[in-house]
Amino acid sequence: MNERLRTLPKVDDVLACLNEPIPRAVLVDCIREVLDDCRKQILQTAPMCSARNAVDFTSATDIAARAITLAKTRLTPTLRPVINATGVVLHTNLGRAPLPEAVAEHVKQIAMGYSTLEYNLQTGKRGSRTAGIENLLTNLTGAEAACIVNNNAAAVLLTLAALCKSGEVIVSRGELVEIGGSFRVPDVISQGGAILREVGTTNKTHLRDYENAICENTAAILKVHTSNYKVMGFTKEVEVDELAALAKETDLISIYDLGSGSFISFAGEPIVQEALKSGVDMLCFSGDKLLGGPQCGIVLGKKEQITKLQKHPLYRALRADKLSLAALEATLLLYLDIENAKVQIPALTMLAEAKDLKQKATLLLEQLDKNFNAYLQQTNSQAGGGSLPLQEFESWAVAIPSRHLVLEEKEASEAEWETSAALTAPTANVSHPVAESHRFTIPELEQHLRNWQTPIIARIHKDTLLLDVRTIDEQNLKEIVQCLQAKIGGS
Ligand SMILES: *Cc1c(COP(=O)(O)O)cnc(C)c1O
Repeated sequence: MNERLRTLPKVDDVLACLNEPIPRAVLVDCIREVLDDCRKQILQTAPMCSARNAVDFTSATDIAARAITLAKTRLTPTLRPVINATGVVLHTNLGRAPLPEAVAEHVKQIAMGYSTLEYNLQTGKRGSRTAGIENLLTNLTGAEAACIVNNNAAAVLLTLAALCKSGEVIVSRGELVEIGGSFRVPDVISQGGAILREVGTTNKTHLRDYENAICENTAAILKVHTSNYKVMGFTKEVEVDELAALAKETDLISIYDLGSGSFISFAGEPIVQEALKSGVDMLCFSGDKLLGGPQCGIVLGKKEQITKLQKHPLYRALRADKLSLAALEATLLLYLDIENAKVQIPALTMLAEAKDLKQKATLLLEQLDKNFNAYLQQTNSQAGGGSLPLQEFESWAVAIPSRHLVLEEKEASEAEWETSAALTAPTANVSHPVAESHRFTIPELEQHLRNWQTPIIARIHKDTLLLDVRTIDEQNLKEIVQCLQAKIGGS
C-alpha cells in the first residue's frame, strides 16, 4: 500500500505539466485536494483486492487534468445566468424580474464609476440618496411621500417598527400568510416590536371583527394581500377602503401589504394607484415582482409617517444599495410612458405575450432531432413570485417524453390499429421509431440541461420534460438545441 502511495506525483511535478491561465494559489490548492483524494482511495482499498483498477489514474497528467477541472469550477461564480424554461416569469429561485436592457446599462454606468448617490449638484453639498426616486414614485402613483428599502419584507418590518411599536396590530386570520418560507406575517409583526391581534376566521372576517378588536392598545390595522393563494367558496374579506375608513374614524393607522404592487392592470391583482385611492395610510410592495424592476421594497404613504420611517434606526440597516436604486429609478422612468413600459420591461412583455408563443415553440421543435419524439404541448405558465396565484397564462412547451412513454404509446397505437382493423386511424401519432440513442431517463435529461454551460432550467411533468417557451428568449433557442443534441450525440 505504501508503495502505491509513494508512486503519487509531487505537487511540483503536477504543476510542471500545467500551462493554464489559472492563479497558482488556486491550482496548488486543487492539486493538493486531488492528491489527498487519491491517497484516501488508496488507503481505503483493501490490500487483498487488486488495488490497481481502483486508483489507476494517478500519473502527473491525470492529476493535472482533475485539478484543472476542479480549479475551473472554483473560479466560476456560483451566481450565474441561466435559461429559464419553466414558464414561470417571476421565478423567485431564478431571480424574479429580468431587467430591461436600458436599465441594466444604467446600472453598469453607476456601478463602474462615481455617481451623485448622496451629492447635490446644485448646491455642491451632500444630497439625499433617494429624494429623486421618491419624487418619481409620488408622481407616478399620486402618493404624498415614498420610502425605498431593501425588499418588501423590509418595507413591512420598518413600517411596523416605526409606527406600531408595542401596540397591537389587527390582522384577519385569513391573511396571516407565509411567503416563500421566511416571510410570515405573525413573525414580521413580532420582529417589528408589535403585538399581533388576529380577528375573524380563516375563511370569513367581517368589519365588526375589526371593530370589536379595537382597544386602547391598538396601533394599526394591517391588510395583507394573499398573494400566493386564494381562499375560495364561503368567504368574506373586508376591503381595504372599509378598513382605511375604520382606521380614520378610530385614529389608527391602516397598512396594506400589497405584495406585488403593479402599476398596470392584471386580473385579480390590486393596482398601486387604485389601492392608494382607498385612503389607506401606508402601502408596501416589492420592486421585483409585477413592477418588473430590481429587488427592493417600496412604502408609499403620508409625509408624516414616511418621515418617521426614514428617521427610524432600522432604516439605515434596511436601505437599498446604489445599484438597486439605479435600477429602480431607470425602471420607474420607463413607467412615465406606460405603453413604453409594457414593451420594454421583460416581466410585462413575457406576461402579456400570447400569440407568438406557439410559433416560438414550433421554432424550437423543428430544430430538435426526431429521435427525441418531441411534440408541442399547451401548458399553463404562472406569474410566480407569489403573484397572480390563480391566473393561468396559456403557454406552449416543447415536450420530450420518456422512452417508456413513447414505447407504451407505440404499443397502444399498434394494438388499437389491430383491433380497429383500419376502420379508424389510430389516434396516437408516433411517427418515429424509438431510437437506441434515446437511452436516458427524463430526470437524467433534466440534469443534463441543468449542468450545461448556461444552465437550462426545465420542469418535468408525468415523466415528460417540458420546455415552456414563455420565459425563453428567442436568442437562446439555439443553445437549448445544442445542449439537447449533445445528449443524443454523446450517449
Ligand atoms: C412577496 C411578498 C412579500 C415579500 O416581498 P419581498 O420583496 O420578497 O421581500 C411580502 N408580502 C407579500 C404579501 C408578498 O406577496
